[in-house]
Amino acid sequence: MTTKVDTVLRGPDSYSLARRAIEEMESAGVWPTPVNFELWLHYLDNPGSALSDEIRRLLAAREPFSDATSELLATEHLPRGQLTEQIRDAGRVLDNELSSVAEAISDAHKSSVAYGVTLADASQSMETSGDPAQLKVLVSGLSTATKRVKLQNASLEKRLETSTQEVVRLREHLEQVRRDAMTDALTNLANRKAFDEYLESACTQARNTGGSLALAVIDIDHFKRFNDTWGHQTGDQVLRYVASVMARIASEPRFAARYGGEEFTIIFPAEAIDSVEAALEDIRKEIGSRGLRRRSTNDELGAVTISIGVAELSEGEKATALLERADSALYASKHGGRNRLTRAETLDRAAA
Ligand code: GH3
Ligand code: MG
Ligand code: MG
Repeated sequence: MTTKVDTVLRGPDSYSLARRAIEEMESAGVWPTPVNFELWLHYLDNPGSALSDEIRRLLAAREPFSDATSELLATEHLPRGQLTEQIRDAGRVLDNELSSVAEAISDAHKSSVAYGVTLADASQSMETSGDPAQLKVLVSGLSTATKRVKLQNASLEKRLETSTQEVVRLREHLEQVRRDAMTDALTNLANRKAFDEYLESACTQARNTGGSLALAVIDIDHFKRFNDTWGHQTGDQVLRYVASVMARIASEPRFAARYGGEEFTIIFPAEAIDSVEAALEDIRKEIGSRGLRRRSTNDELGAVTISIGVAELSEGEKATALLERADSALYASKHGGRNRLTRAETLDRAAA
C-alpha cells in the first residue's frame, strides 16, 4: 500500500521531512523508535489528519509517549495497522457467523431428537390403545410436532443462507485486501512483496522442472534530474507510463513489478533468453523514443530512457543471488552510458 508519505519520502522534500521528524521528537522528549519515526512522518506530512490531532492532544496533555501508546496509534492510524485491523474485523465477523450456524445446527438437532421421542411415544400408545378418540388426539399431536420440525428446518435453512452470503462477501473483501497489499498504488503493478514471492516460487519451479528463468531489473535513467526539472507529479505520470509499457508485455507467466522508486523488475519463466532480450529491447526502444508531454500544460518533456540488466538463473542459484547478478548487469548498463541492456552472463564471462 503506497501512501502519500511513501511518495514524499522519495521526493525532493524527503530529507527535510525526515530531519524535522527527528527534531520534533527530540524537542517533545519522544524516543526516535521506528514506530515513533513513522508516526511523526505522517503527523508532520499531514497536519490535518486524525492522527495529527491525536498526537497534538497527547503532547498538549503532556502524556508520556510510551511504547504502548505508540503501538495503539500505529494500529489505529498507520496504513499497515489498518490492514491488520481489516483482517481482524473479517475474522471477528467470520467467528460470529460460525457460532450462529453452530447454534442453529444444535437447535435443529435438539428438535429432531424431540420429534423422534414424540414419534416413539405415539407408536407405543397406538399399540396399546384401540380407542378412536384417543387415536385422533395422537394424530393431531403428531401433526403439531411435524409442523414444529418443519418450521425449525425452514429457519435453519434461512440462517444458513444468510451466513453463506456473509461468508462469500467476507471472502471477496479479504481477496481485495490481499490484492491491495500486493499492488503498488501509484502504478498498479505488483509491488516488491508480490515480486519477492513470485520470484521465489518461479525459482523453485525452474529448479524442479529444469526449466529456465530470466530476471530483468530496469531503472529509469537520470530520473532525479527529470523530477527536479518537471516536478514530482509529472515524475509520477512518467512512472505510470513506464509501468504501463511493462504491464503490456508482461502477460502470464511473465511478471512485472515496481521494485521501488523508479526501479522495475520483470520475471521471465521458461523462456528462451533471445526472446527475453528481444522483448526487453522492444520496450527500451519504445520508451526511449516516445516524446512525453505534461498532461496539465501540454509542455514537451522529451523522452526518458531506461537501463536494463538481465540475468539467467544458473544451477543451484538462489533468488537473492540471481537478483544480485541482474543488479550488477544494470549497474554495467549505467556505467556503459545508460539506455542499454546488459546480460549478466557477458559480465560473468568477462570476469572469468
Ligand atoms: P540513474 O540514471 O543513475 O538511475 O540516476 P537517477 O537520477 O535515476 O537515480 P537516483 O537513484 O539518483 O534517483 C532516483 C530518483 O527517482 C530520486 C527520486 O526523485 C525519483 N523517484 C523515486 N521514486 C519516485 C516516485 O515515487 N515518484 C517520483 N516522481 N519520483 C521518484
Ligand atoms: Mg534511475
Ligand atoms: Mg534507481
